Amino acid sequence: MNQTKIEWTERTWNPVTGCTKVSSGCDHCYAETIATRFAGGKAFPRGFAVTLHPERLDQPLRWRKPATVFVNSMSDLFHADVPDEYIAKVFAVMALTPQHTYQILTKRPGRMRSLLNSERFRVAAAMETAIGYSEAPRNLFTWPLPNVWLGVSVESQKWADVRIPALLDTPAAVRFLSCEPLLGPVTIHEYRDRPADPTIDWVIIGGESGHNARPMHPQWARRLRDQCAAAIVPFFFKQWGAWAPVGEGEIAKETDLHIRRDGYAWPITEPHGAKDGTEVVMRRVGKSAAGRELDGREWNEMPQRNEVCPR
Ligand code: SF4
Repeated sequence: MNQTKIEWTERTWNPVTGCTKVSSGCDHCYAETIATRFAGGKAFPRGFAVTLHPERLDQPLRWRKPATVFVNSMSDLFHADVPDEYIAKVFAVMALTPQHTYQILTKRPGRMRSLLNSERFRVAAAMETAIGYSEAPRNLFTWPLPNVWLGVSVESQKWADVRIPALLDTPAAVRFLSCEPLLGPVTIHEYRDRPADPTIDWVIIGGESGHNARPMHPQWARRLRDQCAAAIVPFFFKQWGAWAPVGEGEIAKETDLHIRRDGYAWPITEPHGAKDGTEVVMRRVGKSAAGRELDGREWNEMPQRNEVCPR
C-alpha cells in the first residue's frame, strides 16, 4: 500500500487528492488521468476535484520503518482549495514522524512561501502536534522541519524564473527542483551561485510519458546535468519519457520527429526549412524502452536523508 514506482522516492502519502492546471507542465497530468479513471471509487470519490482525506492524516504515524515519502503525488498541497488549517495538520504529522523524510513538490510556491514564512501558520502546526495526535510521541518543534524537503516543478525557463525565487525565499531543510516534464532549456546558474544565500540542493529531470507526450531535447538534460556538476548539486535523471534520441548511424523512421534546442518539433518527413543545426532525431519508443540512461549511465544522486541542517 502506498508504494510507488517513482524513482526518487519510496512511498507516497496523499492526504489531499485532486487539483487544477496551472502551467504547460500540467497539460498531460498523470494525477488527472488516474483520478478520472477511478472517479467515484474510494481513492477518488470526487474524481479530480480537490478533496481532503482527513482519515489519511495519521497514516505516517503507523509506518515504523523510516521511509522517504512523496507528499501529495496526486495533488498540490498548496492549492487554494486546501485550507491553511489542513496544511498545518499535514506539517504537524511530519513533525511528529522525524523517522521519515518528506518531499513536497508544488507548482504554487507563492502560497508555500507565504504560509511557511508566517508565524501564525508555524504556531498552528506546532499546536496541532500537541492536540491533534494524542497517541504520538512529543517532539521539540523546530522550524523549518529538518525532515521536510520542499521542491518546485520547473518545465521551462519562464517557470524557473517564477518558481525558484519563491522556493529560495521559503524556509526549508532541503530545496529541490523537479524538471519534469522538461519542455525547454533551463539555466539555473543565477540561483546556484549565491554562496551566502539559500540555494538549490537537488535537481531531478525527466521527460514526459503517456499518450500525448512531448520529447525532451538531449541538450536540455545535459545542460542541467553539467550545471549541477559544476556547482556540486546532486543530479537525478529520472527517465527519458516516451521519446528517446535516435543514435548516430541509426536509420530514421517515418514516425520520428526532429526537435530543435528551442523546443520546436516537426515530423521528420516534412521539408527541412526548420533546421538550425541544433535539431536531433527523437523516436517514440515508450517509457520502458527509452530507459533512464543519459550518456551511457544512470544518474541517481540525492541529498542525504535527515542529515542536512536547517538554515
Ligand atoms: S499541479 Fe501537478 S497535480 Fe496539479 S494539475 Fe498540475 S501536474 Fe497535475
